[in-house]
Amino acid sequence: MIQDNLKKIQERIHALDKNQQVTLIAVSKTKPASDLQQAIDAGQHHFGENYLQEALEKIDTLKNQNLIWHFIGPIQSNKTKQIAQNFDWVHSVDRLKIAKRLNDQRPESMDKLNVLLQVNIDNEPTKSGVLESEIDEIITHFENFQNIVLRGFMCIPNQDNAERSFQKMAEILKKHPNLDTLSMGMSSDLELAIENGATFVRIGTDIFGKRV
Ligand SMILES: *Cc1c(COP(=O)(O)O)cnc(C)c1O
Repeated sequence: MIQDNLKKIQERIHALDKNQQVTLIAVSKTKPASDLQQAIDAGQHHFGENYLQEALEKIDTLKNQNLIWHFIGPIQSNKTKQIAQNFDWVHSVDRLKIAKRLNDQRPESMDKLNVLLQVNIDNEPTKSGVLESEIDEIITHFENFQNIVLRGFMCIPNQDNAERSFQKMAEILKKHPNLDTLSMGMSSDLELAIENGATFVRIGTDIFGKRV
């Protein structure tokens, strides 16, 4: 089941990903390690998790399999240390204070932590993320960070105008030629996101089934 689903998603990606720039992240929140193992056995390496505690358990259970872990959920300050110590990527950095803490807490013995700024691309009061107008100021501070590296941007667009929002994200990335990553596209808008330049797509439901 999970293997078939992964295969179908890969076909959907390959149909559009002419430049082979898209990496699939399997979003495994609320799913047991045994489900992730099925995906691993089918060749999946990148996993996305939203909730720290359950993520840490799975990271431990599935260690020594060369997996790449992405933190994609809301970040409270008191969680930054364990995120910095256990993940390869963080997509949901939405304020400078969090970036600073991740930098201070990332062990120097590890590779730099890859960071994306979450952008509230539709200016929705209910969603987290920096506003487009705040991006440039925040980015200037990354010069001071030795243990994390800013790679690009992530968004969760409003479904009513996802295409326009993805276009805006692509325009933002273009303005920062030293960055290379756009994390956008979920089960419902995967194709639109790829057509508009996504480099990471984050797929949960269409791989692991509905979450209860
Ligand atoms: C849950 C989640 C996903 C996956 O969503 P699906 O609709 O299940 O594919 C992607 N990104 C984020 C930030 C999520 O929280």
